Amino acid sequence: MEILNHPLFIAAIFICLGVEFFVSRKKGLSNFSSYEALTSIALISFDKIIGYFTGTDGGPIVKWLWAHRVFELGFNHTTNFIFTFVAVEFMYYWNHWYNHHVNIGWATHIMHHSPTKYNLTLGYRLGITRFFSLGWMVFLPLILLGFHSEDIALSIGIIFLYQFFIHTELIPKLGRLDKVINTPSSHRVHHSSNPEHYNTNLGGITLVFDHLFGTYCAEGDRSQISYGIPSIMNKKNIWYEITCHWRVVFAQFKKASGIKGKLLALFGSSSQGHQG
Ligand SMILES: [Zn+2]
Repeated sequence: MEILNHPLFIAAIFICLGVEFFVSRKKGLSNFSSYEALTSIALISFDKIIGYFTGTDGGPIVKWLWAHRVFELGFNHTTNFIFTFVAVEFMYYWNHWYNHHVNIGWATHIMHHSPTKYNLTLGYRLGITRFFSLGWMVFLPLILLGFHSEDIALSIGIIFLYQFFIHTELIPKLGRLDKVINTPSSHRVHHSSNPEHYNTNLGGITLVFDHLFGTYCAEGDRSQISYGIPSIMNKKNIWYEITCHWRVVFAQFKKASGIKGKLLALFGSSSQGHQG
């Protein structure tokens, strides 16, 4: 979804960040930290600059998989897109599950979860090392199954666009909607550092698969929720933020013996857990 790297879209993101900041200040909320906001903006800017120059073309892997597809979606374009969107929402759930539970997945995703203040700056703080975490491979079987790569990219783009707006404390609980849709309330639980909330509400736009696979959790009393990983953010070192869990992975990889041990160091459980 090229629009996500368009300069006008990026300008719109920064306007939204500014509006949230001033409304929050007016309401007397303490949901911003200048250090965390600045590191998020630096990481988002770096990510967008790379995206602007490299584009979102999947390249030769996508072309090869498409050439070897097993099925062909033979409906009209709208129906194809609806099926693709549902399939991407399902794969997004497992991509997010991978990012939380698999060691190299968490090494990148930890950047999205480390800030202790919950606001829109988290929306596109997606982790600049995600190419190396291989979570994107979760979506590749869809191409082999005959889903068009443009529709897959558009569906992922829509999910990320939607997710930007749920990283806010300004929108309260929305009643029954919070059970079905990944609302700000549902996603606050996902970012909570309260142990009972770890690895919950992993869905993209809906929470259907969280209900199906037992990872749904309602918000409860918001005043009892803490966010992020203070041990990382207190260091005030952006390089440490980017590399902290990669260091754990490399140390485990170095210590492990045999191919099985090395593979477990990379793809085994993110043993440090949600708290890094
Ligand atoms: Zn997450």
